[in-house]
Amino acid sequence: MKLESFAQGRWQPGADEGNALLSAVNGVPVARISSAGLDFAGMVAYARNVGGAGLRRLTFHQRAAMLKALAKGLMEHKRDFYSLSTSTGATRADSWIDIDGGISTLFVYSSKGRRELPNDQVLVDGPAEIVSRKGSFVGQHIFTPMRGVAVHINAFNFPCWGMLEKLAPTLLAGMPAIVKPASSTAYLTELMVRRIIELDILPEGALQLICGSTGDLLGLLDCQDVVSFTGSKTTADKLRQHPNIIANSVRFAAETDSLNCAVLGPDAVSGTPEFDLYVDEIIGEITSKAGQKCTAIRRIIAPRESSAALVSVLAERLSQVRVGNPANKDIDMGALASLAQREEVRERVRELAAEGEIVFGDTQKFDVIDADPEKGAFFAPVLLHCENPGTASAPHDVEAFGPVATVLPYDDLDQAARLAHRGAGSLAGSIYTHDDEVARALALELAPYHGRLVLINRDCAAESTGHGSPLPHLVHGGPGRAGGSEELGGIRGVKHYMQRTALQGSPATLTAVTNHWIRGGHQHEPAVHPFMLTFEELQIGDTLNTAEREITIADIEKFADLSGDHFYAHMSEADATRNPFFDGRVAHGYFIVSAAAGLFVHAPFGPVLANYGLDNLRFTQPVYPGDRLKVRLSCKQKTYRAEHGYGEVRWDTEVTNQDGEIVAAYDVLTMVATADKMREIMGTQESG
Ligand code: NAP
Repeated sequence: MKLESFAQGRWQPGADEGNALLSAVNGVPVARISSAGLDFAGMVAYARNVGGAGLRRLTFHQRAAMLKALAKGLMEHKRDFYSLSTSTGATRADSWIDIDGGISTLFVYSSKGRRELPNDQVLVDGPAEIVSRKGSFVGQHIFTPMRGVAVHINAFNFPCWGMLEKLAPTLLAGMPAIVKPASSTAYLTELMVRRIIELDILPEGALQLICGSTGDLLGLLDCQDVVSFTGSKTTADKLRQHPNIIANSVRFAAETDSLNCAVLGPDAVSGTPEFDLYVDEIIGEITSKAGQKCTAIRRIIAPRESSAALVSVLAERLSQVRVGNPANKDIDMGALASLAQREEVRERVRELAAEGEIVFGDTQKFDVIDADPEKGAFFAPVLLHCENPGTASAPHDVEAFGPVATVLPYDDLDQAARLAHRGAGSLAGSIYTHDDEVARALALELAPYHGRLVLINRDCAAESTGHGSPLPHLVHGGPGRAGGSEELGGIRGVKHYMQRTALQGSPATLTAVTNHWIRGGHQHEPAVHPFMLTFEELQIGDTLNTAEREITIADIEKFADLSGDHFYAHMSEADATRNPFFDGRVAHGYFIVSAAAGLFVHAPFGPVLANYGLDNLRFTQPVYPGDRLKVRLSCKQKTYRAEHGYGEVRWDTEVTNQDGEIVAAYDVLTMVATADKMREIMGTQESG
């Protein structure tokens, strides 16, 4: 099979014979790969002009719906992906991380996109900043999609997840992508891209694929493009120094290798649940994906007094690991990605062994079940022990990208932290302790050196997602050696494909640009109460100014009885006066919010279906008996929920007193029916 690239809307084979890709399990050729003859300049132009334009026409919600449809479509083809994944050396459990993990990332981004982003093409970032005395000139940060193409260069170990975890935030941001998978496992990525294209869900030009080398691609990029790289630090360093990347300040994100550590707390001695959890996690991290995980535990940092017991139990557990054909259900660990990779890992173990002792495993001789050990890239687990990790360098510098880890004993917590720092920046670290003081001390020391830290003890272990699993909700990345970048992290990951801009102007102009009402912007008082307007009729800036209501001591006492809140500041003049914030009895804050609702709510049946919460509530001045309050309510933001037939409306709300001072400010959140929904409701009522 000759792999094809998907370029400018069509599948194209390489112009030459290219290189053979061999099965990791039996060395049989799986495919040939070459990108010779591809028109990279044409691909970039096609992405920018066709793909980007198509994506930017969609709102965040439409793009999110697209991701969900894609995820559902890919679920239908899982069997094919699993079957081909075996050739990469992956067991069924390894493939689950790659295939199901990748598809679930699409689902999570779809759901977050609909819940956390507006149904619009511009994303408002934070509140408006008041930068003038009278408020006629304000600032507002926004995010808009970059106008170029995102070039995704991926590592060999997760051919599906590696693509989808970058694709989901990129497409949601409104940017097209050119995906370049690592050659050795590109056949699986190619199959998944074929299915994505066949599903015909993405706008034309949103996704292109390069099977083979990237040719002159990096030299064609400019300030509107993004390169998102995953792979070794050596390759990352080379690519980020490409003269064109430097000359055009092309945004370059790198997720690279990492000497991740797991630290055992001094309290977690043999016999405690945390010790057992630590052992389980280390065995899982060494064997899962045959240790070819960027987040895998490479450095086992444990109290010196526990290290002998630890080595003994780890060796015992590793001796039970069955290595062999990943298609065989009886094996625990499959193969490395290629014979070249096996040679590479052997060499790295030699370097590690120069400063440590191999306490379990043999890099040459081991049993392989149901496969030819010479033809498949099999490699059994290796455990090392380094007696003096403070003076050694190999365990902190050398990444053996396979089932290999080193035990590093520490004498006190300070030393444990110093050893962790020697990784010089990691993707993931974990701490095993049931002593929360130890957890805090280590977490604060380790956090600056890590993108993600997992704190495991008996209370959370059952539901823990583990040391090595990046989650779409949480950031993936790390400082220093880990690449110095970030991916995922929910909507944070989307922003990597967008430009943040500080807009400055009048509140009315910025409201018009952002579709987000800013205080000081135009206010229109509609002819009817705004609660009688359907979602379509309601306009940003539609405002209600209510009548006044006087707050009395009787109100305060009735509210205290009704709610049961008899706090002294509401009930006792003498005690309230002793409080430095008050001059006497004050109204309950929650009463002010309730009284405000009494002023602005329109009672008869209408399009407002429900109030689902308040945001950003602040009580800014005390309210005393005799104060007269009124409310201004302005339609601030409208978010249409296509799937429900209603929209969410956020109302900017200010409660002021007789002196015009703001006593409370907040956003009221409501659901408002569309005209169709109203007709549907009325029709149901009539037929009922
Ligand atoms: P690699 O050799 O650095 O390759 C990574 C990617 O870069 C591949 O797609 C490769 O393509 C491409 N590449 C290499 N040279 C290039 C060039 N001159 N121009 C453009 N692209 C180029 O890494 P790998 O062997 O695939 O992956 C293993 C490493 O990745 C390990 O060190 C591991 O720690 C790291 N990793 C990190 C993460 C993370 O999230 N941080 C995840 C997985 C793996 P070809 O295959 O065609 O050469």
